[in-house]
Amino acid sequence: MSKVIYLDNNATTAVAPEVREAMEPFLTTLYGNPSSIHTFGGQVAHHIEEARQRVAELLGAHPTEIIFTSCGTESDSTAIRSALAVAPSRRHIITTRVEHPAVRNLCLALAKEGPGGGYRLTELPVDAEGMLNIADFGNALDDDTALATVMWANNETGVLFPIEDLGALARARGILFHTDAVQAIGKVPINLADLPVDMLSLSGHKLHAPKGIGALYVRRGTRFSPFLVGGHQERNRRGGTEAVPSIVALGKAAELAKQRMNDEQTRVRRLRDRLEKGLMANCPGARLNGHPTARLPNTTNISFEYVEGEAILLMLDQHGICASSGSACTTGSLEPSHVLRAMGVPFTAAHGSVRFSLSVYSTEQEIDRVIEVLPPIIRRLREISPFGRDQLAQAKP
Ligand code: PLP
Repeated sequence: MSKVIYLDNNATTAVAPEVREAMEPFLTTLYGNPSSIHTFGGQVAHHIEEARQRVAELLGAHPTEIIFTSCGTESDSTAIRSALAVAPSRRHIITTRVEHPAVRNLCLALAKEGPGGGYRLTELPVDAEGMLNIADFGNALDDDTALATVMWANNETGVLFPIEDLGALARARGILFHTDAVQAIGKVPINLADLPVDMLSLSGHKLHAPKGIGALYVRRGTRFSPFLVGGHQERNRRGGTEAVPSIVALGKAAELAKQRMNDEQTRVRRLRDRLEKGLMANCPGARLNGHPTARLPNTTNISFEYVEGEAILLMLDQHGICASSGSACTTGSLEPSHVLRAMGVPFTAAHGSVRFSLSVYSTEQEIDRVIEVLPPIIRRLREISPFGRDQLAQAKP
């Protein structure tokens, strides 16, 4: 297969060559168990601590505040279940309507779970640009709230929530605040030392480490209850023999992300803007889904009305271009994404939405190729769509 144009980095990223190189010795010669008494195993422990230090540096955290997990989903589950376990008398959870399923589906399950009914769940709405209202969040906090969990950056639209303001409101009420920062890490600068955030989740495969490694930040002094209970690993906070190669990989990826943050914020943003402008100018009726400015630098979500997102993706795929759509084919019907629905995006636009997510490996040539290839695809699909044909007919003088 010829080289693909990979613009689906919010789904997963390529493992960086430097990361692959860093983890390689731990897949071959350095295979000992870090908990072993012998030197052969014990020497590996030092590399785990080095990785922890690198992740902490990316976040502006202390190394003891970092717990390695198996993925973003495990970090989210651990944070949410821990907050509920340490405040058993509190029965209220606050979240948003646009969370990733890793948070959303757990919260929905908790709303049903347990004797005498489940937790009371407040799912905060967003506006047409996908933004959360800070006052709504403040008003939702009450004496029964055990946890507020709000994502840092939305995986579908890239919209950035005002985490500092939300965390401050929760802290003022003595309520634990968790953020799913899986999409934000490595794309926007984060300094947890200055932020009112108690717990934060991240995932390695979104920042050029392999799949199957994540981390949870737990601020020092935060009461914590482990999710995986077993051995004494991770200072008794996460049982299970450490995934040493993946942990080392995450450490290296964190170091690279810190070095490349500037590129992400400038060059990647410029490429994303170039793509957005090029498509808007050449595809009549295209509209942006998401906030114009409070957005990840790598993400754009565009609706092409009256065409199916999945049809667009299939045709892009024929040109070796990888992107995502905002509708998922579930149970035979095309259900628009819960994020676009929460934003009130009209049905005809939600169905024709495509997400492009760039990375530090994206190039101008790739972006220009998409700007060349996509407009004729949209024209063709509109011509064969009954709705699109009507629209075109109306638009003609
Ligand atoms: N949270 C967000 C915002 C995500 O985008 C993802 C993955 O797409 C996850 C959580 C889950 O991460 P993982 O795939 O590592 O479990």
